Amino acid sequence: MISHSDFILNAFIIFLPLIFYRPFYKRKHPFFVYVLFLIPLIITMTFPVIILDSVLDFRAIPLVIGSLYGGIYTTLLLFGSMLAYRQLLGGIELFHYFLSLLPTIGVLLFLFKMYEKAGAKQRMLLVCGVCFFMRVSVVNLYALFEGKETFFMSSFVPSLPIILVQCIMAVMLVFMIEMIRTQNRMQEEIIQAEKMKVVSEIAASVAHEVRNPLTSVRGFIQLLSDPGLNESKRKEFSAITLEELDRAEAIISDYLSLAKPQIERLEPIELDQALSKSAQILSSYANMQNVEIVTDLKVHATVYGSTSKFRQAIINIGKNAIEAMPDGGKLTMTYTVNEPNKTVTISIADTGIGMNEEQLKRLGAPYYTTKDKGTGLGTMVLFSVIRGMNGKIEVRSKEGVGTAYFITLPLTQPESQTSANLV
Ligand code: ADP
Ligand code: MG
Repeated sequence: MISHSDFILNAFIIFLPLIFYRPFYKRKHPFFVYVLFLIPLIITMTFPVIILDSVLDFRAIPLVIGSLYGGIYTTLLLFGSMLAYRQLLGGIELFHYFLSLLPTIGVLLFLFKMYEKAGAKQRMLLVCGVCFFMRVSVVNLYALFEGKETFFMSSFVPSLPIILVQCIMAVMLVFMIEMIRTQNRMQEEIIQAEKMKVVSEIAASVAHEVRNPLTSVRGFIQLLSDPGLNESKRKEFSAITLEELDRAEAIISDYLSLAKPQIERLEPIELDQALSKSAQILSSYANMQNVEIVTDLKVHATVYGSTSKFRQAIINIGKNAIEAMPDGGKLTMTYTVNEPNKTVTISIADTGIGMNEEQLKRLGAPYYTTKDKGTGLGTMVLFSVIRGMNGKIEVRSKEGVGTAYFITLPLTQPESQTSANLV
């Protein structure tokens, strides 16, 4: 008899990895995938469904899918744990069972490369095929080793519908995992596209900013070529020339540090450095609009996340602030450490046009912009980066007075820290 509740419980357990798959998408560590799929594996083995006199558990699903997504180490760990747990449950000839699993492991090892390159549809087909193969090969080989014949007709054929159910569930799980992966990829692409837009918009002001030192260098070189120049003046002019060239170089290298593709990794971010770097990158853009950037970064504080993404988030706020002050103004960046709850609050305030209630409410929604050439993605990226760092954002604004962003971030590295890129 089919026990419906058992079946539903098992089906639910099988889809359990999905809940955790998304927030930890970036952690492709084999051990993580192993734990993710070990849980449903153990639970389905503990509560199998009895159907048509044969024990059906869905262990093949986490085994096959976990192996294909995790790679060789995950496969060995999953199969090893499964064997150990099966032995614990008792009533089995472990060595025979191990032998009957070998073909499946072989097939999995053979498929890794292909699976990596396959698209979503092919992946669903592959998983379906492997689950089917596993069920058929394991049950029959085990029967063979145990000396039971005609097992195929007496047990396999009647349980065919159940095997199909198992395959369908496996395909559904792969479908959902692939959906999550596509969404995450798209999110990454939006962030990347927005970054390139910011980079290109800042480019003009950087070029402008570099021209000033170059012009003064040109003037000084002209002066230096005057043969009547005395030695002390010559020294002074060369020093100024070098200083100006260094300034031009600094502006360009700041800009390049924004434009360069960065390796994503979680690391400690020194707030004072990250904020002053962002302020430097923004400074040429600010100069063009007559905006003065004031920073107060005396306290030391460290948060955790991807430095480049964090800097991009701060630049997005700063850029909006500068754009909100077409007639010039002041952009203030500072932060305070809140010792008792181990957080830090960064505040970035402008004296710009401000926003009304309605605008404030829509802030952060994708494609919401009030600018002719705006994308409406800057704040969305900002919100997603900060959320990925387990932080909170509060925005206060008054029309005609200005806007202030308050970002609160944890100072310690939380266990469940995700790479700062998730929505
Ligand atoms: P974009 O800058 O391309 O318009 P954003 O997502 O960066 O897109 O910003 C969305 C909208 O939020 C802006 O168009 C603007 O109306 C508003 N906004 C954001 N920051 C500020 C600010 N500091 N002052 C005034 N308005 C702002
Ligand atoms: Mg913007």
